[in-house]
Amino acid sequence: MIIVMQVGATDEQVQNVAQLIRDNGYEPLVLPGEGRVAIGIPASLSNEMRTDMEVRISAMEGVSKVTQTSHPYKLASREYHKSNMVIDVKGYKIGGDEFAVMGGPCSVESYEQFLASAQAIKASGAKILRGGAFKPRTSPYSFQGLALEGLKIMKQVADETGLLTITEVMSGDMVTTVAEYTDILQIGARSMQNFPLLIEAGKSGKPVFLKRGPSATIDEFLLAAEYVLNAGNPNVMLCERGIIAFDRAYTRNTLDLSAVPVLKEASHLPVIVDPSHGTGVAKYVTPMALAAMVAGADGVMVEMHPNPKEALSDGSQALTTEVFSKLMDELRRLSPFVGRNV
Ligand code: PEP
Ligand code: MN
Repeated sequence: MIIVMQVGATDEQVQNVAQLIRDNGYEPLVLPGEGRVAIGIPASLSNEMRTDMEVRISAMEGVSKVTQTSHPYKLASREYHKSNMVIDVKGYKIGGDEFAVMGGPCSVESYEQFLASAQAIKASGAKILRGGAFKPRTSPYSFQGLALEGLKIMKQVADETGLLTITEVMSGDMVTTVAEYTDILQIGARSMQNFPLLIEAGKSGKPVFLKRGPSATIDEFLLAAEYVLNAGNPNVMLCERGIIAFDRAYTRNTLDLSAVPVLKEASHLPVIVDPSHGTGVAKYVTPMALAAMVAGADGVMVEMHPNPKEALSDGSQALTTEVFSKLMDELRRLSPFVGRNV
């Protein structure tokens, strides 16, 4: 941590900061500069101490700014866990050589719709079936999902097709129930900072698929993952699903593909890209999915629907079964160039 003093800060102000650091058991390194003084604190500070000191020192007289020189997260960092985390979902490994494709409709709408989706996913060679039973909709008047009924359909279809499943859980008190019906717990973008939910998902021990909040920084995203990890669950996947930028006329969100190499460098956790919510437009999904593979992602989550025009949610971004199958072919064609299997 580096504390930069204001230009013209008095010697007494500098000494007050240095003393506070000493009072906490650390030796400050005072670095006199041309116009202003900087004070360094050793990187061995604990996370709690660092946050606490940052707040207290920022408020002291003569202080211009406090900068962190190491990351605020620990368990999510690659410094802590050097090799890539490979998550084993019933024998299917995510984060290793395999490029994981999760496909399916935005919502589980009926047994027939979900079975048809699952059959298309399976025929295309993808292994993981997605579908929401609890839908976080912007409007309370939009389709909210089939809830428990949707979970039951998901389980039945999974049993019939042998596909792995992923579905969203929206609240901490539902984690145990949802975990009984699915292989992977999805935490939606809007819930990324629902801390009680993150802790419950952590306690469940189930693989957790954490989506980046629409306006979350990389640090906030990794700190959200830290909550799950800190609750004792090492099986966390990070999902970039688009962030809010200034132009929303052509795409629903701005897919931040640079987050892929950034996250892969900062963290050992698998990184998955969701080009469906990232763009909101079906015709842009394939190019962004391919780009995600090239950028180093460990997989993609893609929405498809047997009949997108009739979808109860997110129809405009859903691929038809044919286009989904073509996307799988294209990913397979590209995969040897990046050393992955699809
Ligand atoms: C979803 O996956 O259907 C979903 C609601 O995504 P997000 O949380 O990224 O908006
Ligand atoms: Mn959706």
